[in-house]
This record gives sequence, C-alpha cells and structure tokens, in this order.
Amino acid sequence: MSAGTNWAGNYAFRAARVLRPRTVDEVQELVGGADRLRALGTRHCFNDLADSAGDLLSVEELPVEVSVDAARGVAMVSAGTPYGILGTELQRQGYALPNLASLPHISVAGAIATGTHGSGVRNRSLAAAVTALELVDGTGALRRFSAEDRDFPGTVVSLGALGIVTRVELAVEPTFEVAQHVFEAMPLAVALEHFDEVMGAAYSVSMFTTWARPEIEQIWVKRRTDQPAPPPDLFGALPAEVDRHPIKSMPALNSTPQLGRPGPWLDRLPHFRLEFTPSAGDELQTEYLLPRRHAADALTAVAGLADRLAPLLQVSEVRTIAADDLWLSMSSGADAVALHFTWVPDGAAVREVLPALEAALAPFDARPHWGKVFTTSADRLRELYPRLPDFVALVERLDPRGVFRNEYLERTILAG
Ligand SMILES: Cc1cc2nc3c(=O)[nH]c(=O)nc-3n(C[C@H](O)[C@H](O)[C@H](O)COP(=O)(O)OP(=O)(O)OC[C@H]3O[C@@H](n4cnc5c(N)ncnc54)[C@H](O)[C@@H]3O)c2cc1C
Repeated sequence: MSAGTNWAGNYAFRAARVLRPRTVDEVQELVGGADRLRALGTRHCFNDLADSAGDLLSVEELPVEVSVDAARGVAMVSAGTPYGILGTELQRQGYALPNLASLPHISVAGAIATGTHGSGVRNRSLAAAVTALELVDGTGALRRFSAEDRDFPGTVVSLGALGIVTRVELAVEPTFEVAQHVFEAMPLAVALEHFDEVMGAAYSVSMFTTWARPEIEQIWVKRRTDQPAPPPDLFGALPAEVDRHPIKSMPALNSTPQLGRPGPWLDRLPHFRLEFTPSAGDELQTEYLLPRRHAADALTAVAGLADRLAPLLQVSEVRTIAADDLWLSMSSGADAVALHFTWVPDGAAVREVLPALEAALAPFDARPHWGKVFTTSADRLRELYPRLPDFVALVERLDPRGVFRNEYLERTILAG
C-alpha cells in the first residue's frame, strides 16, 4: 500500500495509508491509537513535510462547514476545505476573505500550517486570518485555541506538529470586487527604484520575471473596485492588451480574468481559475521571505545569480506580505517581501543552485517557505525564528508521545 505522491509528483510518501475519518470522535480514536500519524491536506507541499513513518490522516471527509457569525465577523470552517470551495460559499453568503494564495485548490488547514500567503502591502498571511482553531493533540484530546490564549500565536503555523486541526475560525469581511490589470516590461532598475510605490499601487500586486533579462516582465495589479483606479501606465510600463499567463509564452486560458474586468474577490485574487488548474504539477517551487526594507538589495543579489537561475526557471514572482505575530510565520515580526521561484522539474539541478541562492540572501535574514524546496540548516532556522524554542516546548506539551514527529521536523526545527 502507498499514500501516493505530492501534487508536483516530486515526492513519494513513505506513509502506508491515508486514513479518512468521518467524525472528530474517529480522529481522536485514530490519533490515540497511533504510534506515528501526520495530517495530510491537498498535497501541495513540494517536500516531505506532510509525511509520516506511520499513516497519514486527511480531514476532508469530516462534515463540511462554512457558517458565518456576522456579529463577530468570523467564519467557522471545516479544516480540510479548499479555499476555492470556501470562497464560493462565503461569496454566496455575502462575505470575503482578505486575501488568497495564487492557487484556490489548497486546503485551509494545509495553508495555515505553513504560513501560506498571497500579496499586498497591507495584507497579512492567510494564517493571520485565523482567530481560533480546534485540534486533536497527540494524546487524542480535542483542544480549542483562540486569540486570548497565550500560546495561540504558536498554534496556527504548526507544520502539522501539534495535532490534527479539525476546524478553524477565520476573520471575514463583506464581499468586495477586484479588477485586475497586467502591466508589462519594466526595467529592473525602475522596479528597484520605485519598489514600494509599485507594490503599493493597489490592494494586491505581484511582479513576474524569468531573470533572463534585467526586466520585470509582468506586474499583476489587483485593485479593489472601491479604491482609486490605477494610472494609465506604471512608471512607464504599459497595460497588456490581452489576458496573460504569468509565463508569457503560455496561453492565458487558466489565468483569472484581467483587462480591468471587475469580478468577485475569489475570481481575481488567485492567479489561476478554480475550474482549470491541473490536479498534478510539472514544476518545483522555492520561496524566501525577508524584511521588506531589504527588497531592493535582495533583488539585486538575486540578479547577480541570474545566469545560474534563468536556465532552471519557469518564472519568478515577487510579492509583499504585511507582518504578523505568529511564531513560525515566515512574515512574523516585520513587513515582508517574498521572492518566489517556479523551477523546471529537475530536483537535482535545483538543489545544486539553492545553496548559492540562500547564501546570497542570507544577509537579509531570508526565511524559506516551509512547504517548498530549501536547504537552510536547522541552526540557521533557529536564528531566523526567535520563538522557535517556545514552539518546540509547545510540541513537547501537545505531542508528548511524538505521534506527529517525522524526518522533516527532526531535520529542521527539532534538531539539536
Ligand atoms: C501550484 C501551487 C501554488 C502555490 N501557491 C502558493 C502561494 O500563492 N502562496 C504560498 O505561500 N504558498 C503557495 N503554495 C504552497 C502551499 O500553499 C503550501 O505548500 C501549503 O502548505 C499546501 O497546503 P496543502 O493543503 O496542500 O497541505 P499539504 O501539502 O498536504 O500539507 C502541508 C502541511 O500542512 C499540514 N496539515 C495539513 N492538513 C492539516 C490538518 N488538518 N491539521 C494539521 N496540519 C495539517 C501537514 O501535516 C503538512 O505539515 C503553492 C503550492 C502549489 C503546488
């Protein structure tokens, strides 16, 4: 028996089975009786983070819940719900989430466990929208953590190490519309000089480049329609006249609509349409988040490696994320910039170039995305996350038997 592979197909799970309980009682029994068990979301991580020497457990068959408490401005959500399904139901009820990742197929629990984010100078990570969560800890007990609890900021970006999250509460707001424009061909020097203005030009802005030339090839500007219209050009970059895919040579068929056509938040904030994204990927991803004040210097450092990066890249994306206070969030403590790399699926070649990339970004305290491919050492991670010792203490308290431990955790946060 095998638990299959991750979405990208670059990692085959060693776990024997995927258990799919239908009730929280069943989750509690399964955890209580297991030696080793890990939660599995929608398999979108690019590494062994979700794997287990025992079994995996998916919460996707727990009863689906998306109910809004309008007075408190929160939605109660079953943890295995993908954002696309959640967004559709929230929209039907007249509500929105503040932000989404590039892909709507990722589960809520999996996204918050790794600090997944979208873009926007004032938008925090998706994990920062969590106001409370319920999890089955390593003893099989069901626990609830909410913002009033001292340890709450340690429980959201959990890497699956604290328990099986069954239900979350997310801050919501009244629904809003977004109009998306893509601007093209901004020289890198212009992008660096006006970085804060470009990234702050609208609610959510992403830059795309292949690093083949010193140029930002596309800038995706997602404007809330209740905010001012963008200028006709962005520091000389002109709007595209047709819809684009982030990789310019690819057809725009599965991209979310552009050309300023307004639409609901859930159909514009992700880059890819819910109905079109493939169930398996032909790519690898790496991403580093670092304090935004270093953005221009960090991008200049990456440009210095362009000759080595470009042959392996499909595209690279630059986003911004507002600071939060979650212990293991990659955007914890300072407003962040995220430097993302979508690679061709050549794991060996990618791993060969990563140490040079990480060395170039080290002066800027770059934190690797927990769910993507990286080679950062455990010692370095301890330096990058001041609350890591508190998190490890929480792991020991909530999972005294080590049910949720795996090789990834031993290698990264539990080493030493
Ligand atoms: C095409 C693509 C686009 C992406 N876009 C973005 C993006 O825009 N921004 C970004 O930041 N990241 C992005 N990612 C990365 C992705 O968001 C993360 O890897 C995320 O963790 C995947 O969630 P998942 O549900 O697939 O989790 P999995 O990969 O299945 O698991 C990830 C972690 O979550 C834990 N977990 C899952 N469910 C639970 C649960 N119920 N209880 C406790 N722990 C749980 C697992 O144990 C594991 O540790 C992208 C990935 C892909 C493949």
